[in-house]
Parts: sequence; structure tokens; C-alpha cells
Amino acid sequence: MNKDIDIAFEAQMKPIKDIAAGLNLSEEDWEPYGHYKAKLSDKLEQKLEGRSSGKIILTTSINPTPAGEGKSTVTVGLGQALNKLNKKAVIALREPSLGPTMGLKGGAAGGGYSQVVPMEEINLHFTGDIHAITSANNALSAFIDNHIHQGNELNIDPRRISWKRVVDLNDRALREVVVGLGGPVKGVPREDGFMISVASEIMAVLCLASDLQDLKERLARMVIGYTYDRKPVTVQELGYEGALTLLLKDAAKPNLVQTLENTPAIIHGGPFANIAHGCNSVKATKMAAKLGDYVVTEAGFGADLGAEKFLDIKTRAGGFEPDAVVIVATIRALKMHGGVDKKELQNENTAALMEGAANLKKHMETIEQFQVPYVIAINEFPTDTKAEIDTLTAWCNQEGAPVSLVQVHEKGGSGGLDLAEKVIAAADQKHQPLAYTYELEDSIEQKIEKIARRIYGAAGVEFSSKAEKQMRQMNNLGFNNLPICMAKTQYSLSDDPSKLGRPEDFTITVRDLYPSIGAGFLVALTGDVMTMPGLPKNPAALQMDVDASGVVKGLF
Ligand code: ADP
Repeated sequence: MNKDIDIAFEAQMKPIKDIAAGLNLSEEDWEPYGHYKAKLSDKLEQKLEGRSSGKIILTTSINPTPAGEGKSTVTVGLGQALNKLNKKAVIALREPSLGPTMGLKGGAAGGGYSQVVPMEEINLHFTGDIHAITSANNALSAFIDNHIHQGNELNIDPRRISWKRVVDLNDRALREVVVGLGGPVKGVPREDGFMISVASEIMAVLCLASDLQDLKERLARMVIGYTYDRKPVTVQELGYEGALTLLLKDAAKPNLVQTLENTPAIIHGGPFANIAHGCNSVKATKMAAKLGDYVVTEAGFGADLGAEKFLDIKTRAGGFEPDAVVIVATIRALKMHGGVDKKELQNENTAALMEGAANLKKHMETIEQFQVPYVIAINEFPTDTKAEIDTLTAWCNQEGAPVSLVQVHEKGGSGGLDLAEKVIAAADQKHQPLAYTYELEDSIEQKIEKIARRIYGAAGVEFSSKAEKQMRQMNNLGFNNLPICMAKTQYSLSDDPSKLGRPEDFTITVRDLYPSIGAGFLVALTGDVMTMPGLPKNPAALQMDVDASGVVKGLF
């Protein structure tokens, strides 16, 4: 089969004005960004305010392998399939980060015949939103250092500045740095560090804000560090919330593009699900839901990460509930969960597949706990054998779970018609209201314990002495009634990436806890997870090129 990029280049894209017209948008509702991209205006948002919402479909998956299991591919394919069934579907996705694009994945715009286009633009600089977030984040760092250099009126302790600089790349050399070296005119030396831009609190703020005013208020509330007498210092005290909002005013507008089959897709915001909350913006999801009968949206990595945070954080911020969930599983990943070595995954092994199905089972239980109906999508790969497909399908039937074999990578929307029909049926089911994992009034410890036990299947949680201290501090500061954004490896239900399948009797170690008051949650870092990833030995970037006539290569 052709490479993703070759398929994308053959796309019969419609001018973006036609896609906008298909959504009944008038000219004031959108601003063109070239021929095939547009920004959706604030006016449109206001116009849609009173309009009722279509059904919200959330795509999640089992714990993935490093290559990804095709969640974006299935999300795009399902949107296309719904359109083929004459339903008005709009897709809502995250913006790809350059970190994984250059590092491991080579792109995150779906795959095969289920992609959003123009894929090379979406995967690279797109409409500049992530660059704007990076600039706003680093402007704040510069303002903080300048404040200290200019006399430090707020009495900020340079050793207790929690605000970090960011860059949208995997750059392990920047994890810990010293800034301000070189004598008095170069500033005040202090330890700093870089995170990847998509883990920045500003990314989360942009994704959770309801409008520009809310964005500004959230930015104002962000805590950048502490004074010498341990009081939190906010952006508002520094006085820069206006400038930061100004830097973000265009990034705050959702982006409209299309799929290979011309289904509209709104792509906005791109937090990772392992080290951030992992969902596209509330604004984009709500707009998509109001513009279509169905919005198909995705949350990053497995149901233990993205879906948990979609359901416990994003729905609370957005005031909505999903009508159905799609759990994407692949036979190759389940075999890996069943103990098969990466190099042997192309060989048929139904025994390992059944062993690995325990991982899928945990994610089914998780979605059942949230009381949302779901459908399992088996994303078929060329290496899957008939015996394996039959075995997994029979197992799902035995579990009483609706299941669909999906070929959207190979066939586009027509490879997902059965899934679309099952999703429509699931979303039409009357179901109990969404059951959150924890109440906001639970203690911080209780909230983390509930996530660890109910979502990960852990036996308990250990807090480092540092995390214990931070928990006391957050209680004293009145930050205790916020949801929790867990940062954990995506590869395992536990905080140890080598524990595949459905591990038991493990504990989750919380080593660090910090407030993201603007985003409106507390971040708990578990295991060895890092907010600045590193590059592999052979980064995907090694395959990338552009020739003299501008033809792009190596975006998978
Ligand atoms: P995720 O969203 O889970 O990270 P993606 O949808 O980005 O995964 O897919 C990851 C990669 O796997 C892409 O390069 C995509 O083309 C490829 N892929 C996805 N589904 C299939 C499939 N059924 N067959 C072959 N390749 C696939």
C-alpha cells in the first residue's frame, strides 16, 4: 500500500470555502489561511451559542505500542463513514507536535485513506498555534527574569520558580539549564529547565478556555513560583495577562480543514496525554458538535490517560458528556501485551492475543465505570490473520461487547460503515449520567488513589516525601478542590513502561505534584515520566526531505 504522504498528495481537496459552505458558514464566520485551511471566528462561536449539540463520540484505545495504534486513523475513518451514511459528521482532533513528528511517529494526521489534509502542513507548522503558545510561554519566562533583574519587587525566590521555558521539540539536553550567567548585566543566575510546548500550562489553558475573556482570566491565575516567604506568585501580580492573551488571540481560534473524503475537521490544541491532559480544545469540540449531528473526537493514548482526563477534566470544563466511546485495539499490540517480542509480531499467535486481551478488558471496564456505552474497533493491519481476527471477535462477543472490524486505513470511510452503524446505535442508547472517577471535594490523596485503583487497577499509591509536602502546601493554599491531571507512561497501566498486559499488585509512585491553577488542575507526576521527551537513536527526521521542487518526503 502507498505511504500516507503519497496518498495525501493525491487527495482531491476542496477549497476551504466549499468545506465552510457545507457547514452553512457565512463569510464572517471564518478567515482563510491559504486555500485549504481556515480559522473559525469568535463571531461564529457567539452565533452557535444557543444551538443544540449533536452527539459526541470519543475515540480512545488500549495501551499503545510506540508506533501508535491508529486512534487518529480510526477517528478520521469513522467521521468519513458517518458522512457516507448521510449523517453530518465533523471531526475534532489535536494539532500534532513537532516532538513526536521528528522523533518517532513522522506525523499525526491519521493514516492511509483516513487522513486530514493538507497533512504536511498540519504536521509541520500548520497555522502557527503551537508557535504562538511557545512564544507566550517564553515571553512569560523573560518577564519573570526581567522582574527579578529589575529589583524583584514581588520578592520572588529564584530557587522556587516553577514556570519553565518550552520548545516544541524533543530536546533532552534542555531538561535542566542555568540561565542568567555572565555577570550583573546578563540577569540573575538561576536554575531553569525546558518542557515540550505541548506540556505547557498555556496549552492546557488554551484548550480549556471557553472564550478570550476566560482565557485571560485563566492566564492571570497561573502560578509561576513562590516568594521567599513561600507565597504563590501569579501572572496577575506580574501584570502580563493582557500581553499573553494578545499573543494568543489567533491561536485561540479553532482551525478548519478536511479529510481525504472532504469531511470537515476542526483541529485545535495539542496537549500530550501522558504529560498533559491530552484532549483538543473545548471550543473545537463544542463548535464541531454544534455544526454537525455527530462529532468524532479523540483523546490521546489509552483510556487510562486521554479518556480518563477527557471524562474527568474536559467534560467538567466544557459542561458536556460523550454519547459513546470507541475503544481502538490492534491485534499486534494485544499480542505484545500477551508477551510477544516486537520482532515476532507479524507471526500468528492466537494464544498470546488472548493473553493480551486482558489489557483491552481493563479499558472496557474503565469505560463501563464512567457509564458511557462503547464499541470496540479492531483496527485491521495487513499482518493480522483470519484466525486472529476471528479469535478476537469471538472473545468480544463472549464479553457481550459490540465490536467492529475496521478497514478505514485501507479503504477510507467505506471500511468503517459497520463501526459507524454500531456507534450510532450506541450513541442512541439511553444511559446513566457520566460517573466521574472522583468528586472534586475528595482530598487530593483520595482523588489520586481513586484514579490509580479504578482506572489503572493499582493496589495503592505511594507518595514521595516531596509529594507529601507539596500536597500539604496545596491544601494550605486552598488548591485542593481541583481535578487531577495524572502524568504517567502510556505503555503500561502501571507507571512502569515494561509492565505490559494487565499488571496486578502494583503501586503507583507519585514523585512530584504541582498546581496548574490557570488550567484548573493539579498535575501529579508518576514513575519516571518526563515533561521533555528525548529523541530515539534513529529519529524519524532522518527520513525527511524536501526536493528542489518542494515535494515533501518522510512524513509517514
Ligand atoms: P494513534 O492516533 O493511535 O497514535 P495513528 O492513527 O497516528 O495512531 O497511526 C499511527 C501510524 O500507524 C500511522 O502512520 C498510520 O498510517 C499507521 N496505521 C494506522 N492504522 C493502520 C492500519 N490499519 N494498517 C496499517 N497502518 C496503520
